Amino acid sequence: MVKFEEYRKSTYQWHPGHEKELRITKTSLTSDFDFCPKQYEFKRIEGRKSPETDDMRRGTNVHDAMEIYFINVRPVVEKILTLAKDGKDEDAFELMLQCLPEPKEPYTLGEEDILQTRMEWEYARLLSVDGVNYLPIMNEEEVHVHFVKKVTVNDEEYDVPIHMTGMIDRGFMTEDETVAIMELKTGKWKVDDVYKVRSMRTEMAFYADMLNKADHPYKNVTHWGWLFPAGDRLGLPNTAKHWDYEKISKRYFKSIDTRMNRLIEAHIINDFPPDPHQGKCAYCPFMEECPAWLEGGEKYWKNLRRD
Ligand code: SF4
Repeated sequence: MVKFEEYRKSTYQWHPGHEKELRITKTSLTSDFDFCPKQYEFKRIEGRKSPETDDMRRGTNVHDAMEIYFINVRPVVEKILTLAKDGKDEDAFELMLQCLPEPKEPYTLGEEDILQTRMEWEYARLLSVDGVNYLPIMNEEEVHVHFVKKVTVNDEEYDVPIHMTGMIDRGFMTEDETVAIMELKTGKWKVDDVYKVRSMRTEMAFYADMLNKADHPYKNVTHWGWLFPAGDRLGLPNTAKHWDYEKISKRYFKSIDTRMNRLIEAHIINDFPPDPHQGKCAYCPFMEECPAWLEGGEKYWKNLRRD
């Protein structure tokens, strides 16, 4: 259940003196603002809508299905395990599949293949842990935390009220009774893409930091991971289905803090410059209005500036 009263306390349109708090989500910070401050301004501050893409719809459908799966599987997890131990793998896996919900509309975007892979991974995980801590302790967990962040901009100090919020796909208890958080993605996974691994760690650090700041009962995060069951969906070279699970890395918390400071500074000085790049702008719905693509926009092109 979305906690609307929490969202009413904050806004993306925050500026110094605003009566509400500055809302920061994982996506607004690590995707939108980091991707391009101008796009952040278009999307978050001006609230412009971009049409829902197939990728977005596919992601929502798969996320919804997995959330319901983890609710439906709860009463039958022991039965699945018993069937598996009796050597009835097909029956056990079939029972697992039955825990997926029927979609309201038939899937048309390849969701079934993605869910099949997710279920195969779930089945393997259930057997490997022998059912122990198999069920999540957090399933699409909505977390809110409110705090004041001190920043100095142009030699002036500000106490900025922050509302940090996000939805954590899943959290699990580890064998040491600490917490592992997991993120599901339906995009591609490029093999040996170091940048992607770093960006996933940054995203997970946002969640871990948020749980910690919220003094949440599951704030003791020691591990994180991500699942890309559609990593190879487009059949592109050097792509693969992929998942990772690892110990957290503290330096990514520093990275979140730095990013947050940059975002807050942009709000204080009201400066959201375009950060253009041929590749990423091609997918931006605001290109026609973006200063980087209008007359005089050369100054925003870092590579051109160097020439
Ligand atoms: S067109 Fe490019 S530079 Fe402009 S807002 Fe979009 S992503 Fe940013």
